[in-house]
Amino acid sequence: MIEFTPEQEEFRRAVARFVDAEVVPAAEAIDARAEFPWTLFKRIGELGYLGLRYPEAYGGAGADMVTYCLFAEELARGSLSVAAAAAMQSLMGTYFIYAHGSEALRRKYLVPALRGDLVATFALTEPNAGSDVANITTRAERRGDRWVLSGGKTWVTNAPVADVLTVAAKTSAERGMKNIALFLLDRSTMRGITLGKKIDKMSVRASETGEILLEDVEVPAEHLLGGETGGVEKIGGILSEIRVMTAAISVGLARAAYGAALAYARERVAFGKPIVEHQAIGFKLADMVTQLHAATLMTYQAAARLDARRAITREAAMVKLFASEMAVTVTDEAVRIFASYGLAMEYPVQRYFRDARFLLPGGGTSEILRVVIGRDLDWDRSQAFA
Ligand SMILES: Cc1cc2nc3c(=O)[nH]c(=O)nc-3n(C[C@H](O)[C@H](O)[C@H](O)COP(=O)(O)OP(=O)(O)OC[C@H]3O[C@@H](n4cnc5c(N)ncnc54)[C@H](O)[C@@H]3O)c2cc1C
Repeated sequence: MIEFTPEQEEFRRAVARFVDAEVVPAAEAIDARAEFPWTLFKRIGELGYLGLRYPEAYGGAGADMVTYCLFAEELARGSLSVAAAAAMQSLMGTYFIYAHGSEALRRKYLVPALRGDLVATFALTEPNAGSDVANITTRAERRGDRWVLSGGKTWVTNAPVADVLTVAAKTSAERGMKNIALFLLDRSTMRGITLGKKIDKMSVRASETGEILLEDVEVPAEHLLGGETGGVEKIGGILSEIRVMTAAISVGLARAAYGAALAYARERVAFGKPIVEHQAIGFKLADMVTQLHAATLMTYQAAARLDARRAITREAAMVKLFASEMAVTVTDEAVRIFASYGLAMEYPVQRYFRDARFLLPGGGTSEILRVVIGRDLDWDRSQAFA
């Protein structure tokens, strides 16, 4: 049985209070403006939430994965856009600086990023390389004591407002994944970094997403994060965390949609009774809550296993697949329960429906996750409990 410690429960209640007081009231307006949520981002930094996963020496809290998922889930319940921006900052955008950067880089970039004073991002995807990572063409060439980067990235979360970027590039012309390395780019000191246009999208509109153009960007050797090869393995080292975190935000979003649909179904009357009493609607809600329940258990079971330092590659893929698809289904059903009112911009349920689509591509599409799960189809029931 999954049990939270009293500290984890108290932490979740504190995040929930913050979300109810400050995120929920702002969510509609930031979505309508489609602008990076500066005020909330700074507040999340001030509250110490961006540093949850990092040691206290860098301004972090040294929290476990379960605690981090509680934070991510509650935040996503208020706004998936804010959760996306905060997840990039607190995980992929800063992780490689911490894990593979020198002490000087950690002090210069990680510490202010965890306070929310610098915006960080992680750029892997390119116009012709999404799932097919081996196809990236951004090149890094060594020239003396520097590297020179050229190429282009796209669909990068926080890119339009980013100060520091961890960028994946190839260190040789060879095809394949071996020669991919990670570089830390600083927009304030390095020339040749152009932040391209912001992508106008239907989902997580207040989490800005954009292109990055790199033209002969000179990068000091110290900014090569962890060697000339092995970038894909470094990304792989954090992929299970990314997938479990994505499951947690899926649960948060689905909770919001389920709560809204249940309240509406109890209130809306048709044919002389609240629609929740029509079996067709009651069954929908029963399916929604069942899926939500299962995804929640899977998410926290996987998070606890990460805390126990277990390798959970296949399980993390299962959890992300199940939870993200669950969020798509639950938000879709919520809109159906609202019927015409589900389409009205004055109700948040349309935002939940739009936002859920964001959960599908990041951290591996559902098809790619099935490829990962399909590599090892043996299963016995003990694996669910071990
Ligand atoms: C809002 C948002 C934010 C993002 N943020 C970031 C970010 O911060 N940094 C970053 O680097 N990237 C980011 N991404 C990009 C994301 O990681 C990619 O979109 C994702 O990897 C999928 O790539 P793609 O869109 O190019 O699809 P493709 O890889 O072109 O896939 C197209 C379709 O083909 C399927 N497909 C592809 N290969 C296979 C296969 N072998 N077997 C079966 N089916 C397959 C896919 O599942 C999909 O349905 C973001 C995306 C979005 C939408």
